[in-house]
Amino acid sequence: MIERRPTRAIRVGSVAVGGGAPVSVQSMTTTKTADVDGTLAQVYALRGAGADIVRITCNDVEAAQGLAEIVPRSPVPIVADIHFQYRLALAALEAGVAGLRLNPGNIRNPEHIKTVARAASERSVPIRVGVNAGSLDRDLLAKYGAPVPEALVESALHEIRLLEEAGFEDIKISVKHSDVPSMVASYRLLSERTDYPLHLGVTEAGPPPGGLIKSVAGIATLLLEGIGDTIRFSLTADPVEEAEAGRRLLEQLGLRERSGLDLIACPSCGRAEIDVLEVTRKAQEALEAEELPIQVAVMGCVVNGPGEAREADIGIAAGKGKGHLFIKGRVVRVVPEAEMVDALLDEARKLASEGVEARLAAADGVAARLADEAAEDLLAARGDANRARERRESVAEIARGE
Ligand code: SF4
Repeated sequence: MIERRPTRAIRVGSVAVGGGAPVSVQSMTTTKTADVDGTLAQVYALRGAGADIVRITCNDVEAAQGLAEIVPRSPVPIVADIHFQYRLALAALEAGVAGLRLNPGNIRNPEHIKTVARAASERSVPIRVGVNAGSLDRDLLAKYGAPVPEALVESALHEIRLLEEAGFEDIKISVKHSDVPSMVASYRLLSERTDYPLHLGVTEAGPPPGGLIKSVAGIATLLLEGIGDTIRFSLTADPVEEAEAGRRLLEQLGLRERSGLDLIACPSCGRAEIDVLEVTRKAQEALEAEELPIQVAVMGCVVNGPGEAREADIGIAAGKGKGHLFIKGRVVRVVPEAEMVDALLDEARKLASEGVEARLAAADGVAARLADEAAEDLLAARGDANRARERRESVAEIARGE
């Protein structure tokens, strides 16, 4: 269990952020906001992939007008992304957005910030102070010489003071950096200085797989320390990938209930009795179409498969031309190898509808024995994968000085 750092609670429309609320996933549309139908289609796709909140740019008058039509038709709260022009923040509020994101690096007039704060306060709309290393306030950049964590945090705290002076405290904060250690250090520092909820992200992470790795490294590190109330993967990719990655990360960290398939598979090795990659691909395709919220394992051989994947709800391991279906590590059915994927799909459906106990009760009584025999045969034919038995002898000989 992750012990989460206590933060203040705010609401972005229907979504609670901070104060112990579940960590939410955010993403951002890439369409022109003036293209209302195109943007809404993307918002729906993001929602389907796991986004709880969607940010949309409000970069000109047409975009603000687009927001006025998008907001009432959106399935999730919409946050307007504002740069430079505070009037567009006022327009977005009039359009009915559930949140604003302001970049302190480019709305520099304190009076403009306070004007936006008062208007947001009247509508109970929160503001994210979104500091970005790439667009840090130029005075702070001159002071620190580089966008170091202290500079990012100082920028955020300065902006917050301006908002607080206007009586506004409905705030969340981000201090994004494209360098993972700097990003982590920035958020750690910020979390020591304030209890406003934090929005985590590695900015400009780039395309997958590098962007995914950077984002996971930064966001997961902080979440495991209990830091972070809402997250966004900033990938150079279809934003649906961002939302899905965010959702999956939360599921893997136990911060969100699994909503779909979790496929685990062995990496394969010389012992594999099947083409693990191909069988995994086919199983993934078939199982994802079913949208079953279960954990499924595909293991290349029956020697280690069922035991190593005993935490999986269901799995299959190959051996001697057969597929050995197992539930929670117990082999329940043996099928011809060619029918492995179909049998896995069939059992997964039954498991989802009948539950583990019922499916274990329906197990084929001889399946476990057949699996043991297949494992023994494999060991005899190919030897012990780690030469463990051989080594026990040689270790003993060495110890005895023989
Ligand atoms: Fe997969 Fe079997 Fe090799 Fe483990 S020993 S990696 S289960 S093939």
